[in-house]
Amino acid sequence: MFDHLERARLATLPTPLEDIAHPFADGPHLWIKRDDLTGLGGGGNKARKLEFLCGDAVAAGARSLVTVGAAQSNHCRMTGAAAARLGLEAHLVLSGDAPDERRPAKGNQLLSTMFGAQMHYTGSAASHWGELEIAREALTDDLAAQGLVPYSVPIGGSTAVGAVGYAVGFVELMEQFEAHGSRPDALVFTSSSGGTHAGLLAGRQAMIASGQLSAADAPAIIAIGVAKGVNLGMPDIAEFADATLDLMGIADRVDPADVVVDARWIGDDYAARTDAADAAIDWAATTGGWLCDPVYSGKGLSGLLGLIDEGRWNSSHNVVFIHTGGWPALFA
Ligand SMILES: *Cc1c(COP(=O)(O)O)cnc(C)c1O
Repeated sequence: MFDHLERARLATLPTPLEDIAHPFADGPHLWIKRDDLTGLGGGGNKARKLEFLCGDAVAAGARSLVTVGAAQSNHCRMTGAAAARLGLEAHLVLSGDAPDERRPAKGNQLLSTMFGAQMHYTGSAASHWGELEIAREALTDDLAAQGLVPYSVPIGGSTAVGAVGYAVGFVELMEQFEAHGSRPDALVFTSSSGGTHAGLLAGRQAMIASGQLSAADAPAIIAIGVAKGVNLGMPDIAEFADATLDLMGIADRVDPADVVVDARWIGDDYAARTDAADAAIDWAATTGGWLCDPVYSGKGLSGLLGLIDEGRWNSSHNVVFIHTGGWPALFA
């Protein structure tokens, strides 16, 4: 399904699947898929997408990677690391103002700078993704005019090419469960630009199409939305997953009824702290030494813990939290 697609080997795979059994009385059997440990430049979910995005970029003869994100974007940080590994220039379009002596670069920005990326600050708000995308397009045109052959990637690396990385991730997870003689009932993870979600759905549909998985046994895929766009149904995740299946050469379509986004955990806005996420971050740190951040994985985990609290699953169910990473934001 994936062999005909260009791929740059950037991530340390497979990531561990940790069995944490039953941390709550009457709750489900819980597992953590450690995609915070993908390796590349501090790790996180974007490494999987970047394998296919960068494969495509190198095949296209690109000399630079351009992408965009919020000031503390993990995707930008990992794009910086990927460019360093591949000998390309990285240009990152970020919200907010450039750091200065009073407010030096921290967290993801510090790491992106260390990887040698060139930072382009727009001064705009972190949640104004439209403005950021316009700035990325303008910069891409500039770099092309300078002969830098840019490969330009939208926010979060969320194109069908990038999402293939999460179809691979789905298959990898199912193989790990098979080795345990078990199967998952639900996968829960943080969603913001939708590529992880679309890729997981595409992977599930691909395994159903090839007869490796029966539809009745396929796990539910539950996104915890932490950005306003995904919570309002943008992008259309079923269409996005179908475009990913097209790239994989699979004619099956995703049933829009299988697209589940739980929009209750975002709080006031993208990147605004919530008490539930702060509590989830503490729970993760004190239970397993797991690092979650207040923008992404902490909110995603707060959604999972909330669903468990609501009695969504019983002790016979296997539920996986896909830990998408994000720890550098703890230092910002
Ligand atoms: C980008 C990101 C997400 C969301 O993934 P999408 O594919 O953009 O929906 C979740 N967690 C972390 C830590 C991220 O950096």
